[in-house]
Amino acid sequence: MRPDFHIAIIGGGIVGACAAALAATNSELAGLRIALIDSQPASIPPPEDEIDLRVSAVSRASERVLSSFDAWASISDKHLGAYDEMVVWDATGKPRGRASIHFSAGDSSEPNLGHIVENRRVLWAIYASRVFRDRVTVLQGALSNLSFEPDNVEVTLADGRRYTTQLAIGSDGADSASRALAGIETVARDYSQAAFVTHVSTQRPHQRTAWQRFLPGGPLAYLPLADGRSSIVWTTTPEHAQRLVAAEASEVDAQLSAGIDHVLGEVTLAGPRASFPLRLMHARSYCRERFVLIGDAAHTVHPLAGQGVNLGLLDAAALMETLAAGIESNRSDVGELRSLRRYERWRKSENTLALGFIDALHGLFGSTKSVPDVVRRWGLESVDAMPLLKGFFMSRAMGIGGELPKVARATRY
Ligand SMILES: Cc1cc2nc3c(=O)[nH]c(=O)nc-3n(C[C@H](O)[C@H](O)[C@H](O)COP(=O)(O)OP(=O)(O)OC[C@H]3O[C@@H](n4cnc5c(N)ncnc54)[C@H](O)[C@@H]3O)c2cc1C
Repeated sequence: MRPDFHIAIIGGGIVGACAAALAATNSELAGLRIALIDSQPASIPPPEDEIDLRVSAVSRASERVLSSFDAWASISDKHLGAYDEMVVWDATGKPRGRASIHFSAGDSSEPNLGHIVENRRVLWAIYASRVFRDRVTVLQGALSNLSFEPDNVEVTLADGRRYTTQLAIGSDGADSASRALAGIETVARDYSQAAFVTHVSTQRPHQRTAWQRFLPGGPLAYLPLADGRSSIVWTTTPEHAQRLVAAEASEVDAQLSAGIDHVLGEVTLAGPRASFPLRLMHARSYCRERFVLIGDAAHTVHPLAGQGVNLGLLDAAALMETLAAGIESNRSDVGELRSLRRYERWRKSENTLALGFIDALHGLFGSTKSVPDVVRRWGLESVDAMPLLKGFFMSRAMGIGGELPKVARATRY
C-alpha cells in the first residue's frame, strides 16, 4: 500500500525543521513526500525589533548548511551577532594574560568565528524558506505511538490521527518520545549543574568578543549580541541558578559584574531570566529499521562549548546526504536499514569524539572543585602557546573540522 509519506520527521525544532528543508532541497530526494510533525503550533515570525532570550553560537558549518537552502540570508544583520574574538580565562588569571586562551578570526581565513543568533529566528528562517513552504507538510500534534511494519512505520498522534511513512526521523529533543517508542536506550549523566541565562547591557562595549571565565562553580559566558547587549550563559549549581532567577536585579547585576572580573564595567540586567538543567546523553544506537535519530534526540552536551545545535545540524545534513546516496545507488526505499547504518557510523563516531571532548573540557573547567588550579592554568597556557593545537580547537569550535557533509563544506565538490 502507498504510504502517506516517504519521510516523517517527528519534532520541528531547529534540527528537525532543517532536516525537512534539506530533504526538500536534495535533487535525489525530489518527489518524496515529506511531513514535519510537532506538538507545538507552527513557528511564527518573531517581531523584528525584539531579541529573544534563547540564543545559540551558530558555527560556520551550520551557517553553510542553512545557506544551502537560503534560510541564512533571510536573517537580517540586526540579529546576527558576529564575533571575531573569543577570550577564555581562568578565575585565577586575567583575560589575555597568563592562564588564558585567545582565539581570533584574524588567525584563520574566516571573516569571523561565528554568530550569536536567536533560536527562534533561525527556526523561523527555516520555516519561511521557499523549499520548506513548497515541499513540507506541517502537522501539529504530539506523537503517541510508532508501530513498525516491514514496509512502513505507522505514526499515531495523541488525537488519534495516523499516518504511514517509509522512514520516521526522531528529532523531538532530549526527552524524545520517538526514541523511547523505537526502543533505543541511552547512556546519560546528570551534571548536577544548571545554566542561568539572561541578556545584559554592559558599560564597556563587548568588542564582538565572546568572553568566558572559568569560575569555581562553572564557566560564565558573555556572548555578543548584534544590538550591543550580551547574552549570559552561567553554568552553576541548580540552587545558585534558581537564586539568580529570583534575586533582586541589583544583586544579579553585582554578581554578573564580579563574575567576569569587571572586564566589561558595570553590568545591568536587560532581559528575562531562566535556568536550564544540564546533562550529558548519548543514544546507544541511532537507528533501527525505518527509524533514525538526529539532534538532541540522539545526544545532548554541556553548553560550555556551544555545540548542541551545531552537531544536530550536521546530523541532519549527513542523514540527507546518505539517504540521497542510497537512492542514487538504486535503493528505492529511504527507510532501508543499510543507509541508516551508514549515517549512524558516520555521525556517531563524529559525535562521540565531540561529546568526549566537551565532557573532558567540562571535567577540567566545568567546576574548579575537581582539578587543582595549577593544572587548569597549565592547560589554558599550553593550548594558547601551541598554534597547531589551538588551530585544532578553533576549527572544531567553528564546526569546520572532521568529516563534514557536502553542504557544510566551504567547497561542496
Ligand atoms: C543554556 C543553553 C545554551 C545553549 N547554547 C548553545 C549554543 O550556543 N550553540 C549550540 O549549538 N547549542 C546550544 N545549546 C543546545 C541547543 O539549544 C540544542 O542542542 C538544540 O536546541 C536542539 O535542537 P533540536 O531541534 O534537536 O531539539 P529541540 O529544540 O528540543 O526541539 C525538539 C522539538 O520536538 C518537539 N516535540 C517534543 N516532543 C514531541 C512529541 N512527543 N511529538 C511531537 N513533537 C515533539 C518540540 O516541540 C520541539 O519543537 C544550548 C543549550 C542550552 C540549554
